Amino acid sequence: MPKAGTENTVSTKSSSEVVDYSAETLAPSKEVMSVWKSVYKELRGEFGEAVFRSWLKPLTLQACYHGTLEVSVPTRFMKDWIGTHYAKRILEMCMEKDAGIKRLEIVVVQGAIFSDDDQKEPEKKANENKAKADQFEIASPLDERFTFNSFVVGKPNALAHAAARRVVESTSVPFNPLFIYGGVGLGKTHLMHAIAWAIGDQAPEKQVMYLSAEKFMYQFVKALRNNDTMAFKEFFRSVDVLMIDDIQFIAGKESTQEEFFHTFNALVDQNKQIIISADKAPSDLTGLDERLRSRLAWGLVADIQPSTYDLRFGIVQAKRDQLQVDIPDSVLEFLALKVTSNIRELEGALNRIVAHAEVSKNPITLESTQEVLQDLLRSHDRRITIDEIQRKVAEHYNIRLSDMHSARRARQVARPRQVAMYLAKQLTARSLPEIGRKFGGRDHTTVMHAVRKIEELTGEDASFAQDVEVIRRALTG
Ligand code: ADP
Ligand code: MG
Repeated sequence: MPKAGTENTVSTKSSSEVVDYSAETLAPSKEVMSVWKSVYKELRGEFGEAVFRSWLKPLTLQACYHGTLEVSVPTRFMKDWIGTHYAKRILEMCMEKDAGIKRLEIVVVQGAIFSDDDQKEPEKKANENKAKADQFEIASPLDERFTFNSFVVGKPNALAHAAARRVVESTSVPFNPLFIYGGVGLGKTHLMHAIAWAIGDQAPEKQVMYLSAEKFMYQFVKALRNNDTMAFKEFFRSVDVLMIDDIQFIAGKESTQEEFFHTFNALVDQNKQIIISADKAPSDLTGLDERLRSRLAWGLVADIQPSTYDLRFGIVQAKRDQLQVDIPDSVLEFLALKVTSNIRELEGALNRIVAHAEVSKNPITLESTQEVLQDLLRSHDRRITIDEIQRKVAEHYNIRLSDMHSARRARQVARPRQVAMYLAKQLTARSLPEIGRKFGGRDHTTVMHAVRKIEELTGEDASFAQDVEVIRRALTG
């Protein structure tokens, strides 16, 4: 099993997570920026020109909070490679210059400027570096924060948690595989790491292997290229506990699935524990081979449900204890009430207010929290409905609300109706047919026509464009 140590303080966030750097509070201080600058300068000397050019050049400092230095790269592939090969040393280099830095977090910031040529190089270089790449660096690192101790149990995750504990505590294999599924940011990875840590504590002789499905696939493809599939097979089949995170990533990748299926069967035959996570139940995973899909459902399938208020409150409370910062209950309640999408965002929101308080040296209050999280909350709060749009538009043009649904074609009602359809398309997630239905059962082509018409008119007529803008602001403001 991967050893604890500095390696575990190097973590990488999933690319599905959108990182918001607009918050000034996360911006690195001048000191941190200069530390990073000088470390960056030394990278070339430390790792050599080729490695620097292929991998490290695009590293960009993004944020620094709580001793975590966040740097970005443009692709997930680079993130993984840097994470396993260079991150540990880079962190050491940073720590030598600033003892306050404790962790290095690599995030993927899509759309980062990086030329096509450079993009291709890493793949090539990966190939060339294969000899150097230690073949036992197959596993993904474990996050030392993700333990059973720090996992808050509530109704939505009780089953998955109980199953995870069973796996750790049983002397035999209780169910095979344990399949944990749930939406993004709800604690699947946390639970898997917790199992790995706990088994490591309890039975250090056991070989526990945790890796993302992507990494499994990458390793497999690498082995294929190097004509090394035998070693690959043997290696995987020698582990006691195999955990594959986010199995949905191998959907549609037939040869990887095939290999995984064989590895899976071989391990099950030897009575070795397998733990899988996915974003959906086995039956809902599309692009998976039927044999594999049914095999995955053989053991215990445990879901993690979307969080409840109680669980979210419990989590922010636990976080507060752990950070040992003074945060009033009212703030925790507010967070648990408002940040409902997933636990990762909830933690992000809490980190943000703590970082803000540290920088501003002001206590955390409900008011400061609302202010700091303004942008985040706005996007959560405001869900504009078509009814609202119709009402506002009718009001603005001084027509009857019923005219939004009526068949009248007179210009003075038809145009506002088109404006409302246009805004409905722009401001809601409704489809054209859905919008059509809301406007007296009109066809989706009518809606499309309206959208085009208004686009055209706003391009031609500035005062009309301004009118539309005024309504939009009234709706979104
Ligand atoms: P997933 O793998 O399901 O996308 P993660 O396991 O990465 O989600 O969880 C996202 C974040 O939320 C992590 O920082 C994790 O520690 C935290 N988290 C999720 N569930 C819990 C929980 N029940 N208790 C404490 N922290 C949690
Ligand atoms: Mg995960």
